[in-house]
Amino acid sequence: MSNSNNPPSAISDKAFSLSSLKERMEKDVNLPLRKGATRLVFGVGNPDSKIVFIGEGPGYWEDQKGEPFVGNAGKLLDSLLQSIELDRGGVYITNVVHHRPPNNRDPLPEEIAAYKPYLDAIIEIIKPKVIVTLGRYSMGIYLPGVKITAIHGKNFSIKLKDREFVIVPMFHPAAALRSTEVMQKIKEDFKKLPELLVGMNTKIDAEQMQLV
Ligand code: URA
Repeated sequence: MSNSNNPPSAISDKAFSLSSLKERMEKDVNLPLRKGATRLVFGVGNPDSKIVFIGEGPGYWEDQKGEPFVGNAGKLLDSLLQSIELDRGGVYITNVVHHRPPNNRDPLPEEIAAYKPYLDAIIEIIKPKVIVTLGRYSMGIYLPGVKITAIHGKNFSIKLKDREFVIVPMFHPAAALRSTEVMQKIKEDFKKLPELLVGMNTKIDAEQMQLV
């Protein structure tokens, strides 16, 4: 199925560019976390999506399967998407770092910096209108120096390389699994997304899932 906003060739161009980028990343021996990881966890979803979700980094299950958000936090993300009639095949999901940090520790600033050109390239290829940051690491890339408790669920317009994006910072699903208060907040924040997307005249079709 194709997204009615774009001709089919545009979709396959994006998929092709993402898969070339993934190949480049797989060969990049300078990526700092690759040694301790089983495999690269690049991204999943619709390359033509107008909304991209960015998490922190792969955990155990993501490292095993090569797909972002497939553990417990991923199950919650799936159900949050479902609550607004989306699924992971209709959006695009990736992370700040694309190899699992040892023992699931937080990514270090120099690791985030090493992976950032690839994250930028993913965004440049997909050209989303909305970027939802999940947790403080992806938020920190676009909105440095802010506190997630103060700004979650709000919309921020930013310009990157002459392109306008709306950034919507949200709590990380793993944090919601640890706190009923955060769970309530992330659910409320997700409920605001459809209105934002409609307001931006953005149509998201459920797409065949592509692991690129
Ligand atoms: N947490 C993340 O931030 N990303 C994943 O892919 C899985 C868990």
